[in-house]
Amino acid sequence: MWRLDRLLRMGGRKYAFNDYFKGLDKVEAVRRIFGEKTGQVLSNLKVEFTWFRSYMWTSNVDGHITISSYYLNHGDRIDIYLDLIHELVHVRQFMEGKELFDANYSYTDRPTEVEAYRYAVEEARRLGLTDGQICTYLKTEWMSARDLNRLAESLKVKCPQTPTEK
Ligand SMILES: [Zn+2]
Repeated sequence: MWRLDRLLRMGGRKYAFNDYFKGLDKVEAVRRIFGEKTGQVLSNLKVEFTWFRSYMWTSNVDGHITISSYYLNHGDRIDIYLDLIHELVHVRQFMEGKELFDANYSYTDRPTEVEAYRYAVEEARRLGLTDGQICTYLKTEWMSARDLNRLAESLKVKCPQTPTEK
């Protein structure tokens, strides 16, 4: 769905999102985020690539998306797609003037995160992922088992219980 062929020349510069992620403006889940503004928003959206080994995030300064090139090249395709959906929700939240990194909330309780995950989970379900697979997707290294369970609960995702986890 998107082109990776231009990723070799990157670093600090911002590029047109549409040049790398083609066809996302046609995706129903994305259209649900931006409505009739979808085409306009995506054509103005900028993306930056970093060698920093991470995933992706949205700037709370100008609303552009930064993506780890390592993740883009080595990550699971579905994970990357769902993360893009997640970040696009943050892009809309930024445009609405919402505080993306509100420190009054922990990561998994933050309303902007829960909303972004909700869109990603909805799309994951449409793609046929099971709750167990969605749970694996939600789990990140900075999330404790307790946080993961809280997040899964607010998203109504049934995570398999793993008694060995603390
Ligand atoms: Zn987020």
